[in-house]
Amino acid sequence: MSAFPITRLRRLRQNEMLRELVAETQLAPNDFIYPLFISEEISKPQEITAMPGIKQWTVKSVVKEAKRAYEVGIPAVLLFGIPSKKDGVGSEAYNKKGVIQKAIREIKSSVPNILVITDVCLCEYTDHGHCGILKNTIVDNDPSLELISQMALSHIQAGADMVAPSDMMDGRVGAIRKLLDQNGFVDTPIMAYSAKYASGFYSPFREAAQSSPQFGDRKTYQMDSRNVREALREIELDIEEGTDIIMVKPALAYLDVIYRAKNQYNLPLAAYNVSGEYSMIKAAAKNGWIDEKRIVMEVLTGIKRAGADIIISYFAPQVAEWLQNK
Ligand SMILES: [Zn+2]
Repeated sequence: MSAFPITRLRRLRQNEMLRELVAETQLAPNDFIYPLFISEEISKPQEITAMPGIKQWTVKSVVKEAKRAYEVGIPAVLLFGIPSKKDGVGSEAYNKKGVIQKAIREIKSSVPNILVITDVCLCEYTDHGHCGILKNTIVDNDPSLELISQMALSHIQAGADMVAPSDMMDGRVGAIRKLLDQNGFVDTPIMAYSAKYASGFYSPFREAAQSSPQFGDRKTYQMDSRNVREALREIELDIEEGTDIIMVKPALAYLDVIYRAKNQYNLPLAAYNVSGEYSMIKAAAKNGWIDEKRIVMEVLTGIKRAGADIIISYFAPQVAEWLQNK
């Protein structure tokens, strides 16, 4: 490479068209998955205070929101359920008439082409708020697998296109794969929350999903934020157990994990731009401290540049609109 003055990197930056031509990373609506919260406890859509612009939906009203996302080019939604009844074993999670099972049927009958992916985890359904079932105060791994895979199966039987286990129990991808295959769903893909960290960035989500643990925390199953090699081991195990897509969550404080995973594995890689990442931008923008659109695009481009093929984001429909009106 020749040096200055023969080489001048400013040549390719001098106008918008040149910059577009050489841009290395482009966001597109079809990079995104849009998370949706569906509650049995409300009779009309309800704003989530800590996530301005995001709502809890009823089984009926969520259809309109899924349709809105689909019409601006978002290919997939990720569903989270808030049941009216909770118990120790999360019975509503695998009830055929549960909130998510109903929402899947409603969305698929009105917006059949949108991909319906479901979050698979017991914490929204257990009265103790942990992601598996308890033995005394310990989250008991192996018995939890059976319930988690039953939950996944019931979502697929209701018409979901893909399941996304987020519980971080050891062995859950293999357990789900086995049960789906036994029931004839050999072509149903799994997107595993492979490297899901115990993170402070989930706080606004806990309000949205009403899923805070009633005692203790999730550090015995979610990952320690100081570790990256361990994340690669988690991903490796999920791949061995048959996941089709791997995920890193959260995204922004874990771009190095995304980058390492992308370099090391050849599966599609998703990154979850979580509630705290969303709410921080919203709060700063509301105060006039930052330009919301500019910061959102910069953050999401950064996540894609780090290696994410898929970005799960509450900004998804808004970004799709911005991209269309560019
Ligand atoms: Zn959970």
